[in-house]
Amino acid sequence: MTDKSKFTQPIYHDEDADSSYIEDKTVAVLGYGSQGHAHAQNLDDSGVDVVVGLQEGSSTRKAVEQDGLRVATPVEAAAEADIVSVLVPDTVQPAVYEAIAPELDAGDTLQFAHGFNIHYGQIEPPTDVDVTMVAPKSPGHLVRRNYEAGEGTPALIAIEQDYSGEAKQESLAYAQAIGCARAGVLQTSFQEEVESDLFGEQAVLCGGVTSLVKHGFETLVDNGYSPEMAYFECLNELKLIVDLMYEGGHAEMWNSVSDTAEFGGLTRGDRIVDENVRENMEEVLEEVQNGEFAREWITENQAGRPSYEQRRDAEMNHQIEDVGGRLRSLFAWADEDEETETPEAPADD
Ligand code: NDP
Ligand code: MG
Repeated sequence: MTDKSKFTQPIYHDEDADSSYIEDKTVAVLGYGSQGHAHAQNLDDSGVDVVVGLQEGSSTRKAVEQDGLRVATPVEAAAEADIVSVLVPDTVQPAVYEAIAPELDAGDTLQFAHGFNIHYGQIEPPTDVDVTMVAPKSPGHLVRRNYEAGEGTPALIAIEQDYSGEAKQESLAYAQAIGCARAGVLQTSFQEEVESDLFGEQAVLCGGVTSLVKHGFETLVDNGYSPEMAYFECLNELKLIVDLMYEGGHAEMWNSVSDTAEFGGLTRGDRIVDENVRENMEEVLEEVQNGEFAREWITENQAGRPSYEQRRDAEMNHQIEDVGGRLRSLFAWADEDEETETPEAPADD
């Protein structure tokens, strides 16, 4: 058993959830992608009435039927549902919401797995519905796989609007039905979830790490070291280090590397990622908090994503991609099942 008293906040498990808050309700799961297919199937296996909402011509409709679930249009699904779980990509949610909004009855729940559109005002629900979040902290395929294995995936819940007075119990019941309360459920707010998520992916996970890797790679190559060596040192071995950190924190990583690596890392690390980087992080966090990043991303989408495409191209054409592609083919795992996933991918997009 987890010792709950050691956390700074309550961690909810199955015994804290009451399935009666969801068992007589119909859940419309809009979207059948990463999160959608997992929520829909887990809810169904838990005995909850589920209808999946997909557009008329959607190529995913077949998969829903093969999985033995009901499918309707998002509008039809929302019309019959008590809980509408919005699991289409964040960038299309405002348009999907516009279509289903007339179907929200007083007391219904509008539920999300990421808070961007609510927090930044891209979706403005009526005041007579509950607005909640149940956000598993992993890609949907793991949410499904863990459920089938009798295990769970930790999740966050958040309540933005509690019209019914039962939003928290209902969110916990939903988290239980998709298996997350087996692992543990933490309560947060839409604001905290969105801001910490965007900051994390920008500063550390997606942006920070790739930038660190590229700078390391370029420093070696510019100084005459071979791109192959630079790739192994700066990218390939990162996985081994991160696996140790994932399993046992920094302590396990430091204990597992050589004393030389430990001394070098401890004396040099803070010189690389120094106070300037900290200042840059503060700036990036501020842009998340004051909505500047959100406005930039929304405008970028409205303009057809020109800057996004350009930066993406540049990233794909970096030398590290070319040398990495060739080196990865040397590893046995390169031929294995392409669907093998990494746990803990960033939450959205
Ligand atoms: P996906 O990109 O996997 O969703 C794709 C699904 O959305 C498909 O079924 C697609 O159907 C459907 N869809 C796309 N556009 C529309 C539309 N206009 N109308 C109806 N259906 C549409 O989404 P994710 O599962 O990645 O993300 C869903 C939510 O979950 C987001 O809020 C995300 O931030 C959050 N989240 C995601 C996590 C993840 O690991 N992916 C983790 C935690 C939270 P079609 O085939 O017809 O295009
Ligand atoms: Mg994220």
